[in-house]
Amino acid sequence: MGIEIEVEANGRKYNPASNCAVVICLDGCEPEYLDVAISEGLMPNLKRIRSEGTDALAHSVIPSFTNPNNMSIATGRPPAVHGICGNFLFDPETGEEVMMNDVRFLRAPTLFSKYYEGGSRVAVVTAKDKLRALLGDGLKFDENRAICFSSEKADQATKGKNGIQNASEWLGRPVPEVYSADLSEFVLAAGVKILKEWSPNVMYLSTTDYIQHKFAPNQQGAKDFYAMADAYIGELDALGAALVVTADHGMKPKHDVNGEPSVIYVQDLLDDWLGIKKARVILPITDPYVVHHGALGSFATAYLPSEVDANEITSKLSNIDGILLVVNKSEAVKRFDLPPDRIGDIVIISTENMTLGTSIDRHDLAALKEPLRSHGGLTEQEVP
Ligand code: ZN
Ligand code: ZN
Repeated sequence: MGIEIEVEANGRKYNPASNCAVVICLDGCEPEYLDVAISEGLMPNLKRIRSEGTDALAHSVIPSFTNPNNMSIATGRPPAVHGICGNFLFDPETGEEVMMNDVRFLRAPTLFSKYYEGGSRVAVVTAKDKLRALLGDGLKFDENRAICFSSEKADQATKGKNGIQNASEWLGRPVPEVYSADLSEFVLAAGVKILKEWSPNVMYLSTTDYIQHKFAPNQQGAKDFYAMADAYIGELDALGAALVVTADHGMKPKHDVNGEPSVIYVQDLLDDWLGIKKARVILPITDPYVVHHGALGSFATAYLPSEVDANEITSKLSNIDGILLVVNKSEAVKRFDLPPDRIGDIVIISTENMTLGTSIDRHDLAALKEPLRSHGGLTEQEVP
């Protein structure tokens, strides 16, 4: 069933998909989740696959957020090339903050679209709908060679726009709650059914990190999730797929001993130093789904007034306990391969157990029911 055409995307060559290549991106899968689940006998399939295959740790791109990393997996390139460096973008020209999940922000073709153009059958299933449009860019649905839908909007899928009509009915599962483990399970169950019934050459399955924000690796909620995932990994493997299991970023505890969120409010600091609203702090983790992290992550960027010396602010911020790294824009662009027109004058990264906020009154932390866990910085860069 393989298509023997080599594919070129963004300056790199890729092998033909000779048997179905399945990539599973387990959102927020800090390596410790797999280590704990495997050591407790909850992931027998992954344990076997790890010992028979290649097992390595990799680095995610920075910021260690979902969209930049899913797009780096999809394009094989860093944000400087594909353009997606967060969920959120500040346009200094218009003074507006805009969501970056629209395809107009994507600057490079995905491997999926290149395999599709080469004649392959391509399937992409995501948990949240925010990623679906970006990952599905370049796929066409008129020849029955592409499927791309999210479990969040599975019941709204159509043959013309997603390559499948009502994926919820097709799979025989109701559309899950957006904040649930089921949203991810739906993705994996759909992957198994697609592989059985539709014979894709390339398939990408991307879950959501709701569970990882909520539970540490040794907590039951996390163990249940990985045991569930392992059963699907076993099925995909048994069907003969060439499997890659990876993650978009890790996840670290971000709370104090009392379970209260650990936060440095950067906008408040800059207001204090420079005057109210002179600088603008952007948290690229911000998206419409904030219940599980309160828009708090380990990465922030700030636009400074032109008369301010960025280096002075950089060194002042660097001295604050809980801040791991502050660099100016040119250093950040060089170090992390970021698109210079989509980040501020400085980039700030917090330490392992600290997050960065804007102003204390702009974060609704009442919705956080569990001690905060989050990501975005260098300490969440290691992925399986
Ligand atoms: Zn993620
Ligand atoms: Zn997350």
